[in-house]
Amino acid sequence: MDLKEHIRSIPDFPKPGILFYDISTLLAEPAAWKATVERLAEAIEPYRPALLVGIESRGFLTAAPLALHLGMGFAMVRKKNKLPGKTIKHTYDLEYGTDTIEIQADAVEPGQRVVILDDLLATGGTAAAAVHLLRSVGAEVAAAAFIIELSFLNGRDKLDLPVHTLISYD
Ligand code: IMP
Repeated sequence: MDLKEHIRSIPDFPKPGILFYDISTLLAEPAAWKATVERLAEAIEPYRPALLVGIESRGFLTAAPLALHLGMGFAMVRKKNKLPGKTIKHTYDLEYGTDTIEIQADAVEPGQRVVILDDLLATGGTAAAAVHLLRSVGAEVAAAAFIIELSFLNGRDKLDLPVHTLISYD
């Protein structure tokens, strides 16, 4: 199964000049989505994490079914002010301005092994921020996994941990 055939690219989204890789068409095709989840499961299982952490929002789409499939817990890293109760925040730099992500303070136990999931690795800024946040609450971040990697942006160089991706665009 060639997963690339099920990814749609949309020019000028969300801004002129950006080519957006859209996984909606992958999600809509059950055999392709099943293969995606199974291939991510193969990559993640050897790390034996206690918890899979999805990055809002498309990271939830892979992390939740994988957690169910592999018998692991699932936790959310969200944009600011979305999570109830006590949260831990991390603010990081974007090209223009900053962004803040957060996690519930009790989502991860100190020393717990986790794997991070998102749909796409671009510059690596979002994933690096999630790694920082998770380490600040005591997690041992074992690896990160994505469906798509924009390898020409060298995002994996920002991550000091094993990175697994299923599809790469040069
Ligand atoms: P980075 O922080 O530059 O690595 O960007 C990755 C984040 O932006 C992820 O949360 C992605 O979901 C999102 N993203 C960036 N480009 C795309 C795209 O082409 N398709 C889907 N998501 C994207």
